[in-house]
Amino acid sequence: MRIILLGAPGSGKGTQSQLLMKSHGVPQISTGDLLREAVAKRTALGLRAKSAMDAGRLVDDATVLGMIRERLTQPDAAEGFILDGFPRNIAQAEALDVLLRELAKPLEAVVLMDLDLKVLFKRLTGRRICEDCGRVFNILTAPPGTPPHCPKCGDSPRLIQRPDDKEEVIGKRLDVYEAQTKPLIEYYEAAGLLRVVNADAPVEAVFANLQAAVGAAAPVTAVD
Ligand code: AMP
Repeated sequence: MRIILLGAPGSGKGTQSQLLMKSHGVPQISTGDLLREAVAKRTALGLRAKSAMDAGRLVDDATVLGMIRERLTQPDAAEGFILDGFPRNIAQAEALDVLLRELAKPLEAVVLMDLDLKVLFKRLTGRRICEDCGRVFNILTAPPGTPPHCPKCGDSPRLIQRPDDKEEVIGKRLDVYEAQTKPLIEYYEAAGLLRVVNADAPVEAVFANLQAAVGAAAPVTAVD
């Protein structure tokens, strides 16, 4: 499996990539995760990327492309990959085409996770990460009256909000998506690779549609 999950921030790319990774045994390659890791470790790359990330802007192409080249040439990506959050603009898509041609590993599909902007906003403002188990969930979809808590660990863990999920940054990230990332829909449609999945549905239903879209027969094994 060699695919891209395309979609606005909050469309569920991360969650669905993880499920695909479990059922297909190929790595999820998330440029957002790689960048956050670099920021947390305070590497030179991380320090360079941080201000753009905090402001909801894209990190420069050269930095991201260097990171992707290194990641795609690691042994675990030899049998396939799920790209999540990359490419984010036409220049990155063109560079990816060149790299994959070089590696003789052409893309099989690009799946657009389709979701209304209003739903995206709610998903992003409510998104929290449990510091104990790393689970990502939404406090706005919990039953009314329930205090925010991790569905797995309960009330005690600390819940983290990504700095770029704060309301004032979300607008900027969605603008960047509209202006820079959305043109990729046409780009991959023209290449005959685009599939569209309705992402406004429960996780399991989206996953079933995603499996169908990538033509995978593998059963759903873990959706907890
Ligand atoms: P994400 O977790 O995919 O929403 O990414 C979080 C942030 O990391 C984005 O708002 C960008 O600042 C940066 N980022 C992630 N992927 C890319 C990319 N492919 N190109 C440029 N910046 C990126």
